[in-house]
Amino acid sequence: MARILIALLVASTLAAQVPLSPGGDPYYRAKLLTASPASLQLVLAASGYDTDCMPAGADFVEVVLSPQEYGVLQQAGFQPIVLSTAAPLSALLGDIPVGYHDLTAVHNILLAKEAAYPTLCKLHNLSTEFGPSLTVEGRAIEAIKISANVLVDEDEPNILFALSHHAREITTPEQALDIIERLTAGYGVNPVITNLLNTHEVWVVPVVNPDGVNTVWTSNNLWRKNRRNNGDGTFGVDLNRNYPHLWSSACAGSTVTSSETYRGPSAGSEIETQTIINFSRARRFAKVADFHSYGRDVLLSYVCSPIPTSVGGHIDAQGTALAALSGFGTRDPSAEGEHQIFQMKEVTNYAYLIEMNLAFQPAYIEAQSEAVLLWPMVQGFLNHVLAVRGHVTDALSGLPLTANLSVNTIAWTLGETRTTRALNGSFDMSLPAGAHLLTVSASGYQTQVVPMTAITGSTASLNIALVPHAAAFNITLSTTGGGAGNLNLALANIPAGTTEGFTLFSFDTSGILGQGTLLGLRADVFTINCLIQPMLPGGILHWPWPQSGVYPQVPWNLPNGSLPFPAGLQVDGQAAALGPGFSFLGATQPLRITF
Ligand SMILES: [Zn+2]
Repeated sequence: MARILIALLVASTLAAQVPLSPGGDPYYRAKLLTASPASLQLVLAASGYDTDCMPAGADFVEVVLSPQEYGVLQQAGFQPIVLSTAAPLSALLGDIPVGYHDLTAVHNILLAKEAAYPTLCKLHNLSTEFGPSLTVEGRAIEAIKISANVLVDEDEPNILFALSHHAREITTPEQALDIIERLTAGYGVNPVITNLLNTHEVWVVPVVNPDGVNTVWTSNNLWRKNRRNNGDGTFGVDLNRNYPHLWSSACAGSTVTSSETYRGPSAGSEIETQTIINFSRARRFAKVADFHSYGRDVLLSYVCSPIPTSVGGHIDAQGTALAALSGFGTRDPSAEGEHQIFQMKEVTNYAYLIEMNLAFQPAYIEAQSEAVLLWPMVQGFLNHVLAVRGHVTDALSGLPLTANLSVNTIAWTLGETRTTRALNGSFDMSLPAGAHLLTVSASGYQTQVVPMTAITGSTASLNIALVPHAAAFNITLSTTGGGAGNLNLALANIPAGTTEGFTLFSFDTSGILGQGTLLGLRADVFTINCLIQPMLPGGILHWPWPQSGVYPQVPWNLPNGSLPFPAGLQVDGQAAALGPGFSFLGATQPLRITF
């Protein structure tokens, strides 16, 4: 943020010089010489130009310009140096170097992987599985899932690699293929990869923007956006400006349809972004990496919107450590409304955009060598240990819950949320080292606050059972036979996770059922605490049980004459179930019984 503010001061003088982008289809790849490339890049981006790339330490900014943009920049006094012009492969002047894989080739490699590794690789059609539909040109967004026992949706952390939001960044699908190749070849050979794939579900989406990539390969190799018909003679939305979080912030994408950074008519308007959003909400990824080109930087946090210092510093530190593994730098994102910014809002803080390579479309061998350079970072990303993995369940049924989580040390201000995965109630979190309180809530359940300590390099495991409001399990109390003092007690629907329980009795039945004083039938926390000390395991009213969830399964009989209860005596009875650490899981409704 500080860096951005300083840059903005420098940029304010540049801003007067840069005319607003008139838009138009990308045609020239050019560079603009400048002494302060970071500042010029900011101003160009704010004015609607396509300047994602940031050559580190260079004295120029690289831009992709339409003929109209080229013209207005020239009139404003810039002298764009043209590096190349758009040219489809079909024109024989093809700019796409030999060796790169087009859509069909990528798809065929995914198919081949699935065939070669049927228990490790599974091709998924995200468009049909997660909706909303095929793209406007009728294409599917595909993902390959790589995990041991791949056909089963296992209760394991999910990891996402998403690539090619921007069509012309043709080294990024190659990066996907490299990751897929290394993981499949390494399984069963490399113990770290084997362990990773035994315990995680890795998803790789080589091409988020298939319509755009098709355009790159068939009619304009500098095409960036998707292929929405904007209805005004222009085409395309910048998918990496269309995500709903901070979509309209002060540093969001352009509102001009012809702009290369056009953010779309509404937040999350595009089919492609909706598919990735739906997919992400269903899988609740623990970690997300999104590759772009070019620049050799890991992009950190937000751009101009506030982020709590505690988590902002953590995100920056983790991203900087990641970047260092491959000798990359770090910088702020180019704009808000980007993919990884959405992930930070709803799914995970461990979400980074990685700019790779030193050019858009270098010789194929450079894409390959870049993948070699990136492999340490990819491994570091895959093997990075998150602070906590947990599960939230219904205390009575044991079934997984969709719950909301907040952390007391992170005071999010822009509506950021964390939610468990619907399938198994799981969650994964990247948190700064130290003590935290997790507040776990779900509609219809009592909120729980759970302490945890994040320790660098190890994952805390949390199992949280939420008690439904007005939760009750059944107690049946009755006398047996004709003799006084004979008690028959049965309990049903014991909450999952129960390790101990109390059955409480009150001899004071003069008042409302369950309100008697002796032993306090209101099983509140205070009462339970009072009873822990005098009630030793094995005592009449205390029910230790070695196995969770099976707290007494069979009716329990107090031996005849054990307690000298005279015939006609009334008692109120109530049972309470306790989890680990005497956490209160639930209580029965009180019941009055006459001997
Ligand atoms: Zn990009």
